[in-house]
Amino acid sequence: MARRKYVVGNWKMNGLAASIDEARAIFDGARAYGAIDVALCPPFTLVAAMATATPEGAVGGQDCHSAASGAYTGSVSAPMLADAGAALVIVGHSERREGFGESDADVRAKAEAALAAGLAVILCVGEPRGVRESGGAIDYVLAQVAGSLPAEFDPARLAIAYEPIWAIGTGLVPTVGDVAAMHGAIRAQLDAQVGADAAAAMRLLYGGSVNGDNAAELLGAGDVDGALVGGASLTAEKFLPIVAAAA
Ligand code: PEP
Repeated sequence: MARRKYVVGNWKMNGLAASIDEARAIFDGARAYGAIDVALCPPFTLVAAMATATPEGAVGGQDCHSAASGAYTGSVSAPMLADAGAALVIVGHSERREGFGESDADVRAKAEAALAAGLAVILCVGEPRGVRESGGAIDYVLAQVAGSLPAEFDPARLAIAYEPIWAIGTGLVPTVGDVAAMHGAIRAQLDAQVGADAAAAMRLLYGGSVNGDNAAELLGAGDVDGALVGGASLTAEKFLPIVAAAA
């Protein structure tokens, strides 16, 4: 089954109102590569303004609460993101899992809340450096997939991003062979967990120090359907070469 390539930028805690111009430049440039999905996930504060200024369905949040509303000071729910114009949300990013102690069960609850609110989901998994070095990366990541995946979902609306933690923001990247092996293992587990048709329809993104120089090679690895990009998604100059490599 043909899966459309998907390139998503995670702006993390970067961007002020003036950055909407950069988002516009990114989407204007990306139009040249028609048959590919491109999205940006800015901080909550920019979701509404960016969603208004850019193509429909291309802006997302970086996290959401698992409850729809309530006494959760500082949190933002999935229905709130949808109300602000978001079409997708990242859940389970390692900076949330590690920095905020989010478990697989937390991530699964967030993914379920997002889907219920009509958002698409990018569900992140990935191993720390020690696990990679000890040879346990595949088992570790497959356990995250098993524990974080909602019980039921539309495979067209849930993508998995494999992001080795040691590759995020470090300039280090796994070998293409390691990426292909991990993505193949995730696809095989999805096959067993959700069935062959759903597994074949789901997009698997690679994330971790993707840039214009390495994107073509990483995106060419087996079972890689796109990229989740942090630092290099902040400007059109750095992000568009990655979009071009995916097209
Ligand atoms: C990320 O944070 O999701 C990420 C992949 O970051 P970077 O591209 O900067 O490594």
